[in-house]
Amino acid sequence: MHQLTLAEIARGLADKKFSSEELTRTLLARINQLDPQLNSFISVTEELAISQARAADARRAAGENGPLLGAPIAHKDLFCTQGIRTSCGSKMLDNFKAPYDATVVSKLAEAGTVTLGKTNMDEFAMGSANESSHYGPVKNPWNLEHVPGGSSGGSAAAVAARLLPAATATDTGGSIRQPAALTSLTGLKPTYGRVSRWGMIAYASSLDQGGPLARTAEDCALLLQGMAGFDAKDSTCIDEPVPDYSASLNNSLQGLRIGLPKEYFGAGLDPRIADLVQASVKALEKLGAVVKEISLPNMQHAIPAYYVIAPAEASSNLSRFDGVRFGYRCENPVDLTDLYKRSRGEGFGIEVQRRIMVGAYALSAGYYDAYYLQAQKIRRLIKNDFMAAFNEVDVILGPTTPNLAWKIGAKNNDPVAEYLEDVYTITANLAGLPGLSMPAGFVDGLPVGVQLLAPYFQEGRLLNVAHRYQQVTDWHTRAPTGF
Ligand code: GLN
Repeated sequence: MHQLTLAEIARGLADKKFSSEELTRTLLARINQLDPQLNSFISVTEELAISQARAADARRAAGENGPLLGAPIAHKDLFCTQGIRTSCGSKMLDNFKAPYDATVVSKLAEAGTVTLGKTNMDEFAMGSANESSHYGPVKNPWNLEHVPGGSSGGSAAAVAARLLPAATATDTGGSIRQPAALTSLTGLKPTYGRVSRWGMIAYASSLDQGGPLARTAEDCALLLQGMAGFDAKDSTCIDEPVPDYSASLNNSLQGLRIGLPKEYFGAGLDPRIADLVQASVKALEKLGAVVKEISLPNMQHAIPAYYVIAPAEASSNLSRFDGVRFGYRCENPVDLTDLYKRSRGEGFGIEVQRRIMVGAYALSAGYYDAYYLQAQKIRRLIKNDFMAAFNEVDVILGPTTPNLAWKIGAKNNDPVAEYLEDVYTITANLAGLPGLSMPAGFVDGLPVGVQLLAPYFQEGRLLNVAHRYQQVTDWHTRAPTGF
């Protein structure tokens, strides 16, 4: 039963082949048995899951239907869940039980999903390896000595190991697409404003976006359908109708114009990954797509711009964790300053502290113009590059990551080496565009992902291309040994 995709589960439940409670119990047992190897969950919500599964079975018995009714999922541990620990991977929020549900959580609960737990993540979503979590690193099920990618590494490892069919995740600079690539999953970062950020603990608010992680594009379509839509509680959420993502999955790719940015295939890309990306292009050409080289000339400035803007926003967002209102508080402070200093010094990990300092510096008087303002100008140039490219092509294709999943610990002494892993993913966040990563093969037993980018609100097009690709390839069906 654990091999079933969300779409297969929906059919099985509708045909009464099994109940949601049976399925939920099977997956909970699997999590208990296998997760100690992976560390992909921070909290397993067994009682909640059983009660939601029973409620879903009762709704179905009363005649209700719906593709997510009774479907087991998990939430990245930065989506607030009422009465349940919402830690954001940090000691700062280790004892924090959210007083309300995030919009994504309540929308999915209304659709009938069953929450199996909260997944591990890089502290405050800062990272590309899932090594900065207060709860320890997450292991990649394809090779337990390697990272699963980050920051949504817990969601990715759990889905890749078939502990559950799909999970929510968030992407500020690649945290859905990069772990999807490194664990052989399909992951979609929606257009900025497509999914409500209300109740999602903020890292960099102008970049953060929630989305689905699953094994197939078909499943991402189902989960995104439950997550997307206008929410008056998030002022950046856009009031655009949500299309039926499943309805366009099978559209023909005849004449689809694919752009390959020449900057994506230069130095720094593992040639074995480049070969697999080219193979995916061939497969899409066979389906009728036409390929064209394009240029995104400002891409080289994306990492420096992102690593000014994201820490700047983080330093502002994380100022609310002061030891007074919620979260960790140090023992026996001598005065207020001591309370602030020690609560933050003891509650935040090293990477979070580094980013707060970089961000506060970039925003400070005298440096604001030199760093923050310049970075914002680069952001606009990057967006303009994409707008020009999308006049010529329908989707942009390239590698999701420059390298394979590295060994746990290998980049611990070199934060910049880890930042460089985001080179292909962060531009979509800076421009606010939707992006998807899909499995495209293996090198030395480690997964490789291909990234697709599309114009604003064209999530349906991304899912369509990935779905057609998945009908002629089987990378997404392979399971890691031992899981
Ligand atoms: N690796 C990037 C960072 O550390 C992106 C993380 C994310 O998307 N949450 O900021």
